Formats: sequence, C-alpha cells, structure tokens
Amino acid sequence: MLTAGGALALALLVAWSCKTTRTGFVPMHASEGTVEITSAEGVGSRPEPMIRVRIARQTKESELAGRGPWLVAVAGSRTGEVMTGPVKVSASKGGIRLTDARGRVRGFGPGTVVYAGPVVGPDDEPGQEIVSVGRTRYPGTLRYHPRPDEGDDVFDVVNVVEIERYIPGVIAKELFPHWSETAFMAQSVAARTFALQRRESARNSDRWYDVDDSQSDQVYAGLTGLRVAIRAAEQTRGVVLTEGGSLAGAYYSSTCGGKPVSAEEVWPSNTPVIRNVGLNEVESSVGATVEKRDVLCESAPLYEWEVARRTSDLSKRIKSWGKKHNNEVGRFGSLQSVEVEQRSPNGRSLIVKLTDTSGRSAALTTEHFRAACNSSQPGVPDVSRVAQVYSGDVSVDVGRRVTRIAGYGSGHGVGMCQYCAEAMAQRGDDWRLLLSTFYPESKLVRIY
Ligand SMILES: [Zn+2]
Repeated sequence: MLTAGGALALALLVAWSCKTTRTGFVPMHASEGTVEITSAEGVGSRPEPMIRVRIARQTKESELAGRGPWLVAVAGSRTGEVMTGPVKVSASKGGIRLTDARGRVRGFGPGTVVYAGPVVGPDDEPGQEIVSVGRTRYPGTLRYHPRPDEGDDVFDVVNVVEIERYIPGVIAKELFPHWSETAFMAQSVAARTFALQRRESARNSDRWYDVDDSQSDQVYAGLTGLRVAIRAAEQTRGVVLTEGGSLAGAYYSSTCGGKPVSAEEVWPSNTPVIRNVGLNEVESSVGATVEKRDVLCESAPLYEWEVARRTSDLSKRIKSWGKKHNNEVGRFGSLQSVEVEQRSPNGRSLIVKLTDTSGRSAALTTEHFRAACNSSQPGVPDVSRVAQVYSGDVSVDVGRRVTRIAGYGSGHGVGMCQYCAEAMAQRGDDWRLLLSTFYPESKLVRIY
C-alpha cells in the first residue's frame, strides 16, 4: 500500500513533464497553475535574482587581492575609477579608505557604501566577475558597508552575486564531496529556497545584506571547483520549494536520527506556521521497498550518541544561559533531574522539565536545552566538539557528579536530513522524491 507521501511523490512525478534545456531539467509547474513568488523581481521576465552575502562582519581591514585592475565607485553610481591591486581597504572616520599597490589613496566619506569589482569591457559576457578577498575567491562583486552603529572604524564586506553562482559555494560546504549528485541536487533546491526566503525578509527591512556566510544562515565557500556541486546547481536552476503560494521554510540539518519533526514542534514560539514534517516511512522509486527513516539514517556517525558532562559545569552553563535569555532557569542552582515532558508523534523529545536541588522546576524546549548545554560562559573553556549535545532528541540522567546525556541525530531535524538524503540517493531515488519526502507539503516550482 502506498503511504500518503508515496502517493504525493508519484503524483508530482507524473505532473511534471521534463524537457532538457541548456541548464538541464525544467520541471513544469504542478497542476494548480501559477504560483506567485513575491521575491521574484519583475514577474513577467523573472530574471535570476542577485543575492547579497555578508562575508565579513565589523572588520577594520580587508584586502582586495590580485592585480585587477579593479573598478571602485560609490555603490549605485555610474562612474568610478580604476585602481591596481592588491588594494588595501580600511575604515576611516566612518568612511572607507582604499590604498592601491603603489600607495595611492582614495577615500570615501562617512557612511558611503563602496563598490569594487573587475573592470568589465563591452565585449565581456555579464555574470562572469570574480573578486578575491585575501585568499578566498568569490564570484560577483563586493560592497564595503560602513557600520556607524558599531563605531567609526568598522565595516562589513558584502559579496553581491547571481544566486546561481552562489549556490555551488554553499552546497560544496554542506555535503561531502564524494556524496551523490542526487543528494547535491536536493540540497541545492533547499539552499536556494532558504536563501531566497531570507532575501525576501531582508528586502522588507532595511538590512544591507540578505544572508550571512556563517552557520547562522548558510556556510558559503565563495567560488568552488567542486564539479558535482556546480552540476547539481545547474540541473536544478531556478527550482524552489513553495507552500501556500510562498517560498517554503526549507530548513535542513545533518542527521534526523530517524525522527523528523516540524518547525512548529521544534520552535513553538516561532510565528510562521510551517506544516512540513518529513515522512517517517519512505517508499523507494526503485522497487517496492518501504524504508523507515531510522533505517535510512542509521549510517550517520551521530545517529545515536552519548556524552558525559560534569553536573556542576552543566548547571552553571544552564544558569548563565537562563540569565542571558531571561528564562526561569537563570535562577537555578545545581541540577537534580531533567525529564522529558513531551514528545512528537514519532517519539522525538520536545520539552524537558528541569528541577534543581532546592526543588525549583522549569520547562524548556529541547532546542533551548541543547543551546543552554552548549553555551559559552565567560572565563570557562567552550564545550569541546566531542562533548556537545548534538540534537534536542535527548534523554538525560543527572548524577551528583556526572550527567549522562544520550540522544539521536545532529541538528534540529526539520526538513531535509542530509544523511537520509544520501541514503535515498544511494538506493537510486530521484532528487524530486527526496524533496517530497522531506517537504511533503511543498511543491517544486521553477521561478526563473
Ligand atoms: Zn535522517
């Protein structure tokens, strides 16, 4: 018998006729007609969007490496001047100061956003620019953005790039280079959707960048030579996940531990309603096998884990996390017990009740509990990588001296699980089946 998700996946596969173009497969829109993607520019022509990636935060100095010649200008102006590299970029009295290889200086006044990029000739094709910041090469161009809110002598560096040239630099960091192209294709759709959604919220605010290049958004390597990443992005060009006519919340994480979960369950205080919860049982597109998610996921190194922590250290971290976040556990003394109070339908722990030795108790979401256990504390070394609490799906045994925390998976478990994706790819499944498994409420739509 087909599971609901299996049926949906097949329906989607039938609904899309595919034709091959210069950029590979073009999935046609699913049956419900046009989906309005509010982030797409110029609805008629829908060109490929540009994305602004913040690659340095509040820095005092940066280097535009390589000889160039580099064109520098006030961002948005039609004229600029040429400088020979390497160009030293520094903050100066609220503005930006550029010093070229021969020591010539060009200064821009307080608050001025400065553009830098290669000199492009009339015969050069657009979308080929490459810049170097120190030793890292980036596709696209740069903006130096003064940060008067952080003082006179710091600025942010933002890489402005076509989104399709950005995606390979993200997915090359997200998956292992030897993983299958199918997993890279699914990951590129998730990363593209995530980036465009962040872009949409940035453009509705006065933020000067769309995404950070760190784990707070998506880690980004700049220009990558990883062929599988470049091909996967090309073959899914312009394809995103939508839900209810908007970009879907395309969250992803490393290892679901066999227990996928919805964003609502994991982050109950978050306002956006995201119904997607990955399927627990997955029908294969090759053969009639149905595999449970725990079977798909169990080859992951952090499928199941256990860490031991000193109870005194753990109690202090939880207390200081609580103070910082104005949470009840900020008043806690030494931990007495941690018990699971609520689980998702497939058994993932969602809420824990903490009690201290003087009888105070408080409930925390397990994602908050994980953050508290791993939090930094002034004057104390950070929790080492091997002692981290890797996911919120935990059971906790508090002893007087040592607390044992056992769990499944790594990361939040919402949306795509990278290890499940690779396992499905290994058994021969199509990238679209992967995505309909992890985002069963979403549709795949090509928006440019
Ligand atoms: Zn998994």
